[in-house]
Amino acid sequence: MSSNHDLFEHAQKHIPGGVNSPVRAFRSVGGDPVFVKRAQGAYFWDENDQRYIDYVGSWGPMILGHAHPEVIEAVRSAALNGLSYGAPTVAETHMADLICAMVPSMEMVRLTSSGTEATMSAIRLARGYTGRDRIVKFEGNYHGHSDSLLVKAGSGALTLGMPSSPGVPKALAELTITLPYNDIEQVRATFAEVGQEIAAIIVEPVAGNMNCIPPVPGFLEGLRAVCDEYGAVLIIDEVMTGFRVAMGGAQALYGITPDLTTLGKIIGGGMPVGAFGGKREIMAHISPLGPVYQAGTLSGNPVAMAAGLATLRLLQAPGFYETLTERTTRLCTGLNQAAQAAGVPLITQQVGGMFGIFFTEQSAVTSYEAATQCDTQAFNRFFHGMLAAGVYLAPSAYEAGFVSMAHQDADIDETIAQAERVLRAL
Ligand code: PMP
Repeated sequence: MSSNHDLFEHAQKHIPGGVNSPVRAFRSVGGDPVFVKRAQGAYFWDENDQRYIDYVGSWGPMILGHAHPEVIEAVRSAALNGLSYGAPTVAETHMADLICAMVPSMEMVRLTSSGTEATMSAIRLARGYTGRDRIVKFEGNYHGHSDSLLVKAGSGALTLGMPSSPGVPKALAELTITLPYNDIEQVRATFAEVGQEIAAIIVEPVAGNMNCIPPVPGFLEGLRAVCDEYGAVLIIDEVMTGFRVAMGGAQALYGITPDLTTLGKIIGGGMPVGAFGGKREIMAHISPLGPVYQAGTLSGNPVAMAAGLATLRLLQAPGFYETLTERTTRLCTGLNQAAQAAGVPLITQQVGGMFGIFFTEQSAVTSYEAATQCDTQAFNRFFHGMLAAGVYLAPSAYEAGFVSMAHQDADIDETIAQAERVLRAL
């Protein structure tokens, strides 16, 4: 058996940084990433059969826990009929019907293979629909790695200290206006100046790529009002929050109706999927109905549809979100108490099944600036203490954590007990 260190060394020979997505490389927390062999329920095991309680859940999709028997069975039976056809299937229609029923602001929906494709396409559609080029996004929000959206982004771009990426043409980056999250006054001021040139606002309704930062009251409502006033498209990026913070996503939780919504993660149940959709009037501009081009060889892939449909069916069980939220609250409350007992300044923030841990004296963290002022060194020590104790947290202080329905009270209590021990030793 090889250690994670040896596996990582080998991986780096032919894979840049040894990973296929940057945050996996443990750059900000240091050390060697865990190479996963298999997963079941709330746990995964590494190549040395060490077990971890997993609070990343593939960065959100695994809301039912890993390898849920009904999801695996759906995937198995779909795979037996072939992996991809490049022609329509009834499963895609079922998925579209289900998404539109569960997220009422979505009257039409187009499926993609990733969240990046979904947001990139939604931006193109908003530009094509309005005939305007500029867009507004928020500091520390991450919407995937397309050129227009990789400007002052969160997630790995923030973790690795790259607020914008080389390779994004300046001419394109200039069309992206980045404003502070949760600051509606700056949005109003910007629109007062150049509102007629702005095609869209895109926003994470709960920011999950700079730790976990809920919207302050009035922020999302204010975005809706500004878009209405200036004829801009409001895009709520629910790739992370969709079916995570509530059945109908953050828009259901906060009562905001966007023009377009982007989805991913949970709707694929762990398979590669994304989606964008919204008002029929806007979606009618997408090819082949309209002139705005968008496509994908594997879009609406039958195996992905099977995994997603099975997942969406299961999360409609009565009390699903109440239970998920209770378990997440149990974790957050326990972590707060453990920190207090250990005398470590720490707060948690939670919306539904997603949460954030902040090493800070602040009573709440509501902005990118405040998030970056937290003690990342303390987080890194905490992360490694927990990892050694068999608890896998997101390997960065700037990522949200996720609880699944497979996390039982006993798993959460074990996590809290380990946290108390690790925090005392910090
Ligand atoms: N939008 C949000 C809010 C996300 O959190 C992410 C990924 N974490 C994306 C878009 C991009 O999705 P993907 O990684 O599937 O391309």
